[in-house]
Amino acid sequence: MSGASTPAPGRLETVRRFVNTLDIDAGTDALTSPGALVAWLGATDLLSGDNHGAGRDDLARAVAVREALRQTLAANHGGDPIPAAALAVLNDAAGRARLTATLTARDGWRPRPAADGVDGALGGLLALVGDAMADGTWPRLKVCVNDTCQWAFYDESRARSGKWCSMQVCGNRAKQRAWRGRRAESTP
Ligand SMILES: [Zn+2]
Repeated sequence: MSGASTPAPGRLETVRRFVNTLDIDAGTDALTSPGALVAWLGATDLLSGDNHGAGRDDLARAVAVREALRQTLAANHGGDPIPAAALAVLNDAAGRARLTATLTARDGWRPRPAADGVDGALGGLLALVGDAMADGTWPRLKVCVNDTCQWAFYDESRARSGKWCSMQVCGNRAKQRAWRGRRAESTP
């Protein structure tokens, strides 16, 4: 789903956009080469230092972090624990970024990356996740439950019960499938 869905508040939107660099529904991926990865990160304020080179291994790690974040956002639907494989990928990325508890002027202790380059930029994304966990916005960032979509969206519903990136697109698709299923069941 590449249509409009609600942006996340503040800098958490960067995490949502990162997960959505893969558009499963459209079959497009913005992170197809190390150069494309550096360009994407460079368009955010995540890339610091002079070490902006990236290789195939950097790209593979970035894609692994993206998909681990997607699994983590899927777990936000039921308040489920983060799957072990995703946890391992994210903790490895945090280690490479040398994510360090840093006392901030207004927001208490927050994770901040000490590494630069792509590792540091991925750590910056994980720091944004930590900030969102601290300010309470994190549980509302989810991926669409439609398996052929999985688009990251911010759930603004009062009950925090949103399932789809868009009620008009994936919500309706699910309703139509349920309707066809019931009709098939009622056919003798
Ligand atoms: Zn969707």
